[in-house]
Amino acid sequence: MVWLARSKKMLSVVEGDRELMRAQLHAFSRQVPLLYFILLVNTAAVAATHLDSAPAWLSFYIPAALGVLCMLRCVRWWRRRNRTMTDTQAIKELRSVTWLVGLFGVAFSGWSLLLFPYGSAYQQAQVAFYMATTLVGSMFCLIHLRKAALLLLCIVILSFSGFLVSSGSPVFFAMAVDMTLVGVALAVVIQLYWRTFADAVNAQRELQASQRNTQRLSDDNYRLANLDSLTGLPNRRSFFSSLRAISEQALETGGGFNVGLIDLDGFKQVNDIYGHASGDFVLQEVGTRLLSIGETGLMFARLGGDEFGAIVRHKLSNEALVELGQRICDALSQPYHVADNIAELSGTIGWAAFPEAGSTVAQVFERADAALYVGKENRRGKPVIFSTDHETQMRRLSLVTQELRHADLETELFLEFQPIYDLLTRRPIGLEALGRWHNARLGMVRPEEFIRIAERTELILGITDVLLRQALAQVAHWPADLYLSFNLSAIDISTSARARRLIDIVAASGVSPHRVTFEITETALTRDFEQAHSAMTMLKQAGCRMSLDDFGTGYSSLSYVHRLPFDAIKIDRSFVTDVDTNSASKKIVKSVIDLCRNLGLECVVEGLETPLQAKVVQALGARAVQGYLFSLPMRASAIDTFLWAALAQSHAAQTHP
Ligand code: C2E
Ligand code: MG
Ligand code: MG
Repeated sequence: MVWLARSKKMLSVVEGDRELMRAQLHAFSRQVPLLYFILLVNTAAVAATHLDSAPAWLSFYIPAALGVLCMLRCVRWWRRRNRTMTDTQAIKELRSVTWLVGLFGVAFSGWSLLLFPYGSAYQQAQVAFYMATTLVGSMFCLIHLRKAALLLLCIVILSFSGFLVSSGSPVFFAMAVDMTLVGVALAVVIQLYWRTFADAVNAQRELQASQRNTQRLSDDNYRLANLDSLTGLPNRRSFFSSLRAISEQALETGGGFNVGLIDLDGFKQVNDIYGHASGDFVLQEVGTRLLSIGETGLMFARLGGDEFGAIVRHKLSNEALVELGQRICDALSQPYHVADNIAELSGTIGWAAFPEAGSTVAQVFERADAALYVGKENRRGKPVIFSTDHETQMRRLSLVTQELRHADLETELFLEFQPIYDLLTRRPIGLEALGRWHNARLGMVRPEEFIRIAERTELILGITDVLLRQALAQVAHWPADLYLSFNLSAIDISTSARARRLIDIVAASGVSPHRVTFEITETALTRDFEQAHSAMTMLKQAGCRMSLDDFGTGYSSLSYVHRLPFDAIKIDRSFVTDVDTNSASKKIVKSVIDLCRNLGLECVVEGLETPLQAKVVQALGARAVQGYLFSLPMRASAIDTFLWAALAQSHAAQTHP
């Protein structure tokens, strides 16, 4: 059986695999013209010398027919030389070539053997020479088709040597032996070459496979290096390299493009309240929503955190840009279903156009950032297109930042105090300290402006320390029943170390911690809820009170009130402004006052400016109030006089009610 299998393998013309077979055909194809050239020229030479000595059918018609056959094959080869073959076609081709070689071998050998007897000794030598040289030439042309070459060798050597030996001539016998030996040597050469060829094909195949593998790995690396793994969007690196490519193209063609920066509003809150897994879910959802926005030439990327980038590869009019921006903002402001809850977020987008807003990628990006900054300050959840006005705001921002960095905080910062009144007793019960900054170059800077900048740059830490010390120094002179209300920033309650520092400052001042209330805005709580909670607990344990400032301006306020250890809530001024005219505001103020009463919290109504407002909020149940109606914020030096006057007024009110 093994023998049968071996013989079958030997007889099969297809050796090795597809690649090897294709390599064989490819290499052979290049030798085909040479093969037919050798055959034609050699055969023509022998036929020509036998024209007179042999019959015409042998010296002319047979070689002519064989020559025509060779030429037809040559034409066929020329026509098909560039054709790509399927595996089956290639196998068929290989088989037909091998059998054709066998047939040609029989035909040409048969022809020369028939011719042999007609010639003289010289002519017979020529025929032998013809057989030998044609065989060697053809073998080298067929070197890549081992089986075909060996088949040809066998046919020629066996037939010719057999013929020579059978002639009985010792010279022919010697020639037959010689030819057989050369044939064996040729077979060995063919065999050795075949192995080298097959090894080379295999080596090349392995090389190509390893190159493909390397390419795949490098493609994977490239993809990973340019993709944000959470959202599947291009990442920051990819965003900037696309921007650079687009800007180069725009410079060449004189075209334009638009860059957008998107920032989510309320994302930190989701992270803090529902956990990081929910935060990740929201970011993925944002990625999906952005990708669903259909617009030609629009691409998105995640630049980091909750910041996303957009590129529109062509110029858009301002109207179209606002319309597209609005579609993006609308998509982002749809509710998010997180952990069995519904979270409300919004996205603000700042646009800048190339080349109008800037002539370099960095400039356009910076200006989109300026537009986003302005949007986040004034138009949350809306698209904003960069304008020179934004540039002015950005310049102011960097100027104030610069000055604040180099300010002498001890001398430039000071406080004003605004009393908090009890509507029933008509007496002040506390004073809120409000930070002020006077800078030699900038003059007076509004607290909203410098506090916000200080919060961004962490300079607020030094500012809080200085102002808290100044405030406590004043409290020491006040009547013992007046408390200090002091505003803190998010960063002041972002670590336990920071909370400890505040406690130490209070302790060092000698003022009883019970007389100190720290005000924290809702937005200050959005940074890290857990940290804020533990810092507040520390401050409470040290004896200080905690108050929630600007209540109603942030997100999901009620959840904070429940979860954090507050003692008081300050209703934001915005609800009070129209409390006497707007029934919605009135309802809100009333429900917050009731909520405080139910929770046992103090409620301070901020921003009272008119007696009517005071009357309305009093009717709604408010006791503690603050506002220009009672007193503008005043310098520390004015407090004594003010307190005397307030005391006198309250006495007068009590004696003549
Ligand atoms: P806030 O804590 O809500 O302070 C009340 C703000 O409302 C003060 O503005 C005050 O002058 C103003 N105000 C009081 N009554 C009325 C009124 O009847 N009508 C109107 N229109 N406004 C009234 P100010 O001093 O400009 O402070 C603005 C904000 O800056 C403060 O709001 C507070 O959030 C922040 N801030 C002020 N000082 C500090 C500070 O020392 N540290 C920190 N972190 N923030 C501070
Ligand atoms: Mg306040
Ligand atoms: Mg307030």
